[in-house]
Amino acid sequence: RFITFEGGEGVGKTTNIQFLADWLRQRGVDVMTTREPGGTEIAELIRDRLLKAHHGERMSDMAELLLMFAARAQHLDALIRPALAAGQWVLCDRFTDSTWAYQGYGRGLPLSDIAQLKSLVQDDLEPDLTLWLRAPLAVGRARVAGRGELTDRIEAEQDAFFQRVEQGFAQLADEHARITTIDAALPLPQVQAAIVAAVAPLGEL
Ligand code: C5P
Ligand code: MG
Repeated sequence: RFITFEGGEGVGKTTNIQFLADWLRQRGVDVMTTREPGGTEIAELIRDRLLKAHHGERMSDMAELLLMFAARAQHLDALIRPALAAGQWVLCDRFTDSTWAYQGYGRGLPLSDIAQLKSLVQDDLEPDLTLWLRAPLAVGRARVAGRGELTDRIEAEQDAFFQRVEQGFAQLADEHARITTIDAALPLPQVQAAIVAAVAPLGEL
């Protein structure tokens, strides 16, 4: 099984992926957690270049998109496909829906370009389930600031950018039955109960 966690900044993807991994392990499931961009040594190097502020030269939107898919190609090849083939459950913190939302809806790159790259890199591999953790921008931003993680990258974007990203996720959730929307503004125990309810039907849990 392949489960992805999606959503904006500070909505609790990393916390809840860890929770779900523990919950599944307690039920005897062999689980691996990973993240995008990143997840392997080479893909993490690409992540570093993507997230670092580059002074004096702005990374072009297309270069950013290609690096996202370069990291994904490596991640799929070296980690995700072998794990799935070995029968592990893979829980991934962000995946291609983030590319649609950030590079497509956020930056305005043509969705047809993303579709082409996706088919090159992924073939027909799709998550079995995607949990979209949805929260108002202010909620996420406060959490990110609270843990001292307001990166150059987040600071550099205007609210309008993150609003387009959120609208992108909403559009994707409308289009794809595999995406379940989780209200991530609720208290953590309620968020986790909703996650369990979405995941339980995937296996005899
Ligand atoms: O998942 P995490 O929040 O750690 O992602 C790191 C940063 O990468 C975030 O600030 C996010 O906005 C950015 N990102 C992006 N495009 C993606 C995936 C992540 O701009 N496709
Ligand atoms: Mg995170």
